[in-house]
Amino acid sequence: MYTALHLQRKLKPELKQGAVEIVVISPDPYMTYQPFLPEAAAGSISPRHVVVPLRRVLDKCRVIVGEVRSVDHAKRTASFTTLATVEEGAGPLDITYDELVLAPGSISRTLPVPGLADYGIGFKTVEEAIGLRNHVIEQMDIASSTRDPAVRDAALTFVFVGGGYAGVEALGELEDMARYAARYYHNVKAEDMKWILVEASGRILPEVGAEMGKYTVSQLRKRNIDVRLETRIESCEDRVAVLDDGARFPTRTVVWTAGVKPHPLLAATDLPLNERGRLKCTAELAVEGAPHAWGAGDAAAVPDVTAAEPGTECAPNAQHAVRQAKVLGDNIAATLRQRPLQEYAHKYVGSVASLGLHKGVAHVYGRKLKGYPAWFMHRVYHLSRVPTVNRKSRVLAEWILSGLFKREIVSLGSLEHPRAEFELAAGGERPKGSR
Ligand SMILES: Cc1cc2nc3c(=O)[nH]c(=O)nc-3n(C[C@H](O)[C@H](O)[C@H](O)COP(=O)(O)OP(=O)(O)OC[C@H]3O[C@@H](n4cnc5c(N)ncnc54)[C@H](O)[C@@H]3O)c2cc1C
Repeated sequence: MYTALHLQRKLKPELKQGAVEIVVISPDPYMTYQPFLPEAAAGSISPRHVVVPLRRVLDKCRVIVGEVRSVDHAKRTASFTTLATVEEGAGPLDITYDELVLAPGSISRTLPVPGLADYGIGFKTVEEAIGLRNHVIEQMDIASSTRDPAVRDAALTFVFVGGGYAGVEALGELEDMARYAARYYHNVKAEDMKWILVEASGRILPEVGAEMGKYTVSQLRKRNIDVRLETRIESCEDRVAVLDDGARFPTRTVVWTAGVKPHPLLAATDLPLNERGRLKCTAELAVEGAPHAWGAGDAAAVPDVTAAEPGTECAPNAQHAVRQAKVLGDNIAATLRQRPLQEYAHKYVGSVASLGLHKGVAHVYGRKLKGYPAWFMHRVYHLSRVPTVNRKSRVLAEWILSGLFKREIVSLGSLEHPRAEFELAAGGERPKGSR
């Protein structure tokens, strides 16, 4: 979205003359600002304010809601499906192009853990974030209403696997929200809940550095969160999380945030990939040895020209993705106008992470911040980054309102089954999982 947005600004005269066309193919008609997903899960930001509608922002582009299935760059052709082709059972459609920007991001990196496919919950999309919020509140309702102590115990046990941004922030925000919500239950107390973070390495949140990572562990442990370093999950079959340190936790919630891997679409192209499956790119964001193909973001292995060690790649994060997109837009415009290309050079400035309302950790521009100042910085930073003035204003308004009123603790799980009530009224059966 950022590349197309930048291009539509840069190529205004050409677009007016009809000399160029920018086509964006995306499975969703919106862009998701992922760093806000934990706050959306906590209810601090409405789901629709975490996303940016492509058609509105990219008003000079042609937006196709569809999924690219393969790219034959030798023939300058991409094949894609749309909702209509899928519904009609038709084959993929082809589109030809002059310049290709391939930026499908990454997908969750899963391991063959028994039971994971059946019970695991991801945390990469707005649907997953809101689904998880509803699920956590629903577990509190189950615990509050059951007479079976085993069901209650499993409902109040929440296991998060993976201690990067997504896992730590999601756990921090949801635990904070659930702790707050517990005051409205007569028989569920914050102390009754078990929150467990399982991390295979010896540290969490590497993005904020070793010292702040250690601080984060100590803060989470102070909140009674069971942080288990150098531990792996072996199974979550039959709704029991089995860890390799011998612990077993009956649970109805296993959130999988154990890293990402490049999108599988990359393998369905004739473009060069590195050993980790990322698109091999130059510092100008061009695909190596494939003229007129470009890459950026999580999917692209872009050399980090600011790193001391040669061969270092830019890490897959929003900090690089958003900045690369801008340079990429400039470089495509420069190519069309036969001007020289610029290198992408951005020195990683560190990171900010939220651990719940008024709690955070940050290590940016060499400065280390903890608690409220870090949390505040997290909000200021991401507010400055979330695209469009419209979204910035709405997010800010929500934060101000939630500061004035009590926190939202409602679960709208039934939104996931909107026809359930009517189906029942019409004589059908309740769909599984609906109330
Ligand atoms: C919960 C969470 C919190 C995070 N917090 C931070 C943070 O605080 N700071 C930070 O720097 N980074 C953070 N990140 C990482 C950051 O969000 C990603 O690095 C960034 O979004 C990568 O951008 P991207 O454009 O490469 O991919 P994405 O943002 O994933 O965008 C890829 C797009 O391609 C689309 N797509 C996929 N397949 C196809 C297809 N076949 N055809 C067409 N389109 C397709 C997808 O639908 C998506 O819209 C976080 C990530 C998560 C999940």
